[in-house]
Amino acid sequence: MDVAQEKLKSDLAQRHADHLYRSRQTIDGPQGARIIIDGKKYLNFSSNDYLGLANHPDVIKALQQGAEKYGVGSGAAHLISGHSMAHHVLEEELANFTGRQRALLFSTGYMANLGVLSSLLQKGDAIFEDKFNHASMIDGGLLSGARLQRYLHNDTHSLEKKLAASSADTKLVATDGIFSMDGDAAPLKEIANITKKHSAWFMVDDAHGLGVIGEQGKGTLAHQNLTTDDVPVLMGTLGKAFGTFGAFIAGDETLIETLIQKARTYIYTTALPPAIAHATSTSLKLLQKEYWRREHLQDLIKQFKQGAIQSDLKLMPSDTAIQPVLIGNAEKTLSIKHKLQEKGFIIGAIRTPTVPAGSERLRITLTTSHQPEDVDQLIDALRQSL
Ligand SMILES: *Cc1c(COP(=O)(O)O)cnc(C)c1O
Repeated sequence: MDVAQEKLKSDLAQRHADHLYRSRQTIDGPQGARIIIDGKKYLNFSSNDYLGLANHPDVIKALQQGAEKYGVGSGAAHLISGHSMAHHVLEEELANFTGRQRALLFSTGYMANLGVLSSLLQKGDAIFEDKFNHASMIDGGLLSGARLQRYLHNDTHSLEKKLAASSADTKLVATDGIFSMDGDAAPLKEIANITKKHSAWFMVDDAHGLGVIGEQGKGTLAHQNLTTDDVPVLMGTLGKAFGTFGAFIAGDETLIETLIQKARTYIYTTALPPAIAHATSTSLKLLQKEYWRREHLQDLIKQFKQGAIQSDLKLMPSDTAIQPVLIGNAEKTLSIKHKLQEKGFIIGAIRTPTVPAGSERLRITLTTSHQPEDVDQLIDALRQSL
């Protein structure tokens, strides 16, 4: 035991020395553009609450009403007695929202990705993933037992070469719609055409697109004019733009029934609290109806990019709420993050293994809750800190 303990300690010390150590900061109060840490108020540019719904009074009220009606815990897995009316209604609303026959709720996006990939694929099959896909899709691919191949980021030639060389019976291509650490969009139409040509499944994880872009917040597929036929498997999360918690897979009847039978991260886990599902129905209505949330966010994105370019900041090719500033090494990224925090800004320092070594960055996220003055202040602070 002592030897094992010493090994952990030396691994942790090495992480520190490499500037890769992760630590948490405790937020006192709700998520938002302004947050409190250790009694001090900060401007927060690190949240995925893109539309400012996590602390919206109507969503809070719906959660309270949901708790009055359904209690707190769901008490069982969906297949036993944990599937409540609140879950069922939300699934129907999400199916309708995404224009698909069915939707299935999962407790988290991580679990949805593990569940869908390990249900559709097994040993002998092949999965093709963008190099920058979210960790949960990479892990889902590994868990499935299929041969995992990673193609170059957004590179359809690299993908097609790998697909053409594969003789697997079942093939699946999976990509983020909007990449979580880069903010750029995948070329979904081209990928959809390639997957059709090679008779492969196509799955899109739209954690950062749904709610935020497209007409009525219908995400990257709507934004790029893709149909259900182009993308048979759609995954969305509810903890980001929806401001609540959970995730879903949307698709046709056969896909969803298959997941109910086979997805172990659906079957062997407690259903998420029904009150959360009830609150999510309210945020779904708000995000569809309140166009101004997306418009205001788009204005802030434009303002930030213009200001950053004028200040010679190294932006990455993103038009979304995720605006990374490339720094290029872990030590510098961390020290800039600390400098910004001293000035009153919270920004994520993204290091390896989350992104490839050499592409360490500040991950700035803008939200509907920010004001133009906040963005001006951020640009000033970046100019002084870089
Ligand atoms: C956040 C995220 C997930 C995981 O969703 P959770 O509900 O937080 O588990 C999956 N995929 C992508 C692209 C994400 O950004």
